[in-house]
Amino acid sequence: MTRSQDVMNQTEQFGATNYHPLPVVLSEGKGVWVRDPEGNKYMDMLSAYSAMNHGHCHPKIIQALKDQAEKITLTSRAFHNDQLGMFYSKVAELSGCEMVLPMNTGAEAVETAIKAARRWAYDIKGVAKDLAEIIVCEDNFHGRTMTAVSLSSNEEYKRGFGPMLPGIKVVPYGDADALKEAITEHTAAFLVEPIQGEAGVIIPPDGYLEKAAELCRDNQVLFIADEIQSGLGRSGKLFACDWANVSPDLYILGKALGGGVMPISAVVGSKEVLGVFDPGSHGSTFGGNPLASAVAISAIEVLHEEKLVERSFELGEYLMEKLKTIKSPIIKEIRGRGLFIGIELTEAARPYCETLKEKGLLCKETHMNVIRLAPPLVITKDEIDWAFQQIYSVLNDA
Ligand code: PLP
Repeated sequence: MTRSQDVMNQTEQFGATNYHPLPVVLSEGKGVWVRDPEGNKYMDMLSAYSAMNHGHCHPKIIQALKDQAEKITLTSRAFHNDQLGMFYSKVAELSGCEMVLPMNTGAEAVETAIKAARRWAYDIKGVAKDLAEIIVCEDNFHGRTMTAVSLSSNEEYKRGFGPMLPGIKVVPYGDADALKEAITEHTAAFLVEPIQGEAGVIIPPDGYLEKAAELCRDNQVLFIADEIQSGLGRSGKLFACDWANVSPDLYILGKALGGGVMPISAVVGSKEVLGVFDPGSHGSTFGGNPLASAVAISAIEVLHEEKLVERSFELGEYLMEKLKTIKSPIIKEIRGRGLFIGIELTEAARPYCETLKEKGLLCKETHMNVIRLAPPLVITKDEIDWAFQQIYSVLNDA
């Protein structure tokens, strides 16, 4: 039995089955390339659901990890640590926002944003006790915690986990009129992914985000952008909201913020909103720890130094043009922004992802019939050409 088979058996024997991975074991990674224990090499076109924008084991980020790991790794927030202030200032500068609240995972940051919005609604907007509403979009994905699945319109994400959190309204994505209808005096916030990732890389119609932001402004409703997957260059702009020139009241960041090395997330926004927290109202033992902070500082520096946002924009256009030359009756649509691309098929995408794996390209279906392509943003043009050849050979005339 191969080492890979052994690992997969062990994983299946003892692990709860909350994922359905492709049958490949990864044991090493560098840039866009990963290897299995047998030494087979693959290109990573998923990037850990966009957490790997900087590529695997980026040398500068790994150095920051090592340097910090030898000094101090965790202090809890009972004390100050000497990395958190710099992390705050880097994120504030990057986003143009006044305040930052650090967490670990994306879902925790979503929880944090919902807490902020609700408290802001009561303390600042004057919504009557326990009546605050959050408006979300159909087919959203905000994570897997109880709050996040309560926000979801996907019954399978909720099955067997009720009762759900109250005070949530769901409107169709891309429909500003529906949002307008849904807003009441109790509405605290509208939470939206500026590009829906898990739903299949869905780009909203032109003008939608602008109109939604305007409705929020006019009705004293917070506009919260979940940029956990779409942010930090993935879409070819720093934030996907930049495609619409929209500045949300709160950004929710995660994934690539930790350079693919440490889990770190953050809610970023104004003093008016994040100022609603006071000591004891929110926290996390690991949130804002010095190890993750040092890694995130380095990840933000690399984002600038290596012009990852610009690369994503240019190489995304290049790849998209090439993909559009593929002729196949099973391709329904190819869409995307930057290096965040979905190939929607008329049938299940998984068998095609499995064939691509055999050719050395790793990607994963999303929403059953969409192949999501989201390589590390450090990918080169030659590597894109290679990836395209594999995709072409699998999809053309399929
Ligand atoms: N929000 C969005 C838009 C996401 O894509 C994800 C993860 O895929 C999350 C939230 C949840 O992040 P995490 O898995 O780190 O909890």
